[in-house]
Amino acid sequence: MKPANYSFGLIGYPLGHSLSPGLHEAALRSVGLAGEYRLVPIPPGSEGEAAIQDLLEQLRAGAVHGLNVTIPHKQTVLPWLDELTPVARASGAANTLFHRKGILTGDNTDAPAFLSTLRETDTLNGKPEGKPPLGLVLGAGGAARAVSYALLSAGWSVAVAARRFEQARELADKFTGADQRVTPLALQAPSLDRFLSSNQPDLIVNATPLGMEPRTGASPWPDGRVPFPSGAFVYDLVYNPPETALLRAARAAGLRGMNGLPMLVEQAALAFERWTGLSPSRPAMLEAART
Ligand code: NAP
Repeated sequence: MKPANYSFGLIGYPLGHSLSPGLHEAALRSVGLAGEYRLVPIPPGSEGEAAIQDLLEQLRAGAVHGLNVTIPHKQTVLPWLDELTPVARASGAANTLFHRKGILTGDNTDAPAFLSTLRETDTLNGKPEGKPPLGLVLGAGGAARAVSYALLSAGWSVAVAARRFEQARELADKFTGADQRVTPLALQAPSLDRFLSSNQPDLIVNATPLGMEPRTGASPWPDGRVPFPSGAFVYDLVYNPPETALLRAARAAGLRGMNGLPMLVEQAALAFERWTGLSPSRPAMLEAART
């Protein structure tokens, strides 16, 4: 039986800037359901763990109908769940939790949201068949893992550049297998320069927070020192501001790109589908996020 009033929430810290309540309230309205989406800021540490476990109990008891999880808890929650979807297990992070038939499941909607929004662009049009397209991911945290998993599952090759090379190597080791290889790089001009002298990425993804409000002048790309690879599409997961310093520089160099707002909407819509079984209006959610 459907609840008369849905209760959803987001666990993370800090949560001041979150667009999620507006997105989910628009989703609820678009399918004619009543409910609320609460922000639950929980700092890391042992007190925080008790608060998260309490929320998970509410999810099991049916008092809460769905939870999102963001930084710094996307990995913390994993041991307390009964099962992970294949994408959550592979990307090592859960951003969507639901309870069904006595089982508490952790899913990751970032990876499919990234892929479906990328597919809506014509990034690969005109590329020669045969050789797999190449994605260069900047950053090696949770979002980089989801993006790398998504690209590899769609048959891409991936290189990951992180300011701590060790982090890029860990990600590469996790995903490199018999039929796929991830190249780890240092996120520094000499290392990128060397890589680009013999590789032509089709896609550059910013999976670092660089460029986000309030430090809008920052960019993960060593501008002026390393030219952008011609013809690459630039996907910045940051969505605030809408045109980041990276996107501005890429456009000035003649490259096309997009920000992370469509992915934010899609990952929320997919979470909403897991919780309610209903497909919300993406345009209504996008409109809510923009206003
Ligand atoms: P995360 O797990 O904390 O990872 C962040 C990555 O960026 C790490 O590799 C980190 O390196 C690196 N980094 C941080 N500050 C840096 C700096 N000053 N210079 C170079 N590298 C730096 O965070 P996440 O969950 O992956 O999120 C990353 C970004 O993606 C955030 O801005 C988030 O809002 C965005 N995101 C957007 C969507 C969407 O739907 N549009 C979804 C998920 C994430 P260290 O570990 O060395 O700090």
